[in-house]
Amino acid sequence: MTDFTGLVAVVTGGASGIGLATASLLAERGARVACLDLNPEAVPEPLTGVPCDVTEDDTVRAAIDRVATRFGRIDVLVNNAGIGAQGDVAANPDAEWHRVLDVNVVGIARVTRAALPWLRQSPSAAVVNTCSIAAWAGLPQRALYSASKGAVYALTLAMAADHVREGIRINCVAPGTVDTPWVSRLLDSAADPAAERAALRARQPTGRLVSAAEVANAICYLASPLTGSTTGTVLGVDGGMHGLRLRPP
Ligand code: NAD
Repeated sequence: MTDFTGLVAVVTGGASGIGLATASLLAERGARVACLDLNPEAVPEPLTGVPCDVTEDDTVRAAIDRVATRFGRIDVLVNNAGIGAQGDVAANPDAEWHRVLDVNVVGIARVTRAALPWLRQSPSAAVVNTCSIAAWAGLPQRALYSASKGAVYALTLAMAADHVREGIRINCVAPGTVDTPWVSRLLDSAADPAAERAALRARQPTGRLVSAAEVANAICYLASPLTGSTTGTVLGVDGGMHGLRLRPP
């Protein structure tokens, strides 16, 4: 078991889904956890909800300052806030490309930039980014989203190289299809949500969706001293979708 007692963690997108599961697990294991999110009011105790839009540098810096003032340190940063996009490369106008890349990619740069001075002071600093199997799976009708997650993967490697000598480990997780409010919203918009969910399950090698708790466990593992020599890596949490070279039909 990992113990985060005495440490402070920041989780972006911590009000829902993978972020909330991760923040809750970190808190269960002793960390004081701040969830930076558009919906801080949805963050349950004992987690601390902090208003933040990762696309706005001012609010990002204000949120990190607030965490540092309240807790005095930042040891773990989970860059998890992200949004989806559907369609082929022609489906979205420039403005949508900029919007999604701004959240999914530049958002990571903004939050990390603001947190770096604090991470440098931590004896066990770790950053975990939420990537996706979309970064390399060649998923149909996910051009913009896949591009954004490919960038998350490359950014993770570059950040890991830049900060390895400062003792900051930087890794990412690559979830497959995770049972979160995001996926539920997508399924609910289908003509027959139950049939769509069954079809989605059937497309998974394991016959079921990944749980948010499973992704949270992987993130906590990468954030913990158990992986003290691990940096610049990706840990798949995809029910075998990538490793088994299975592709969704
Ligand atoms: P979710 O929609 O349940 O939660 C996302 C959270 O991010 C929400 O609380 C939302 O308010 C917050 N958020 C969105 N934009 C924000 C912004 N600009 N600033 C601050 N917070 C913002 O989604 P989820 O399924 O838990 O996904 C979380 C991450 O996991 C995303 O990066 C997503 O790309 C990735 N992911 C999800 C899946 C999946 O199948 N659910 C698969 C692979 C990767």
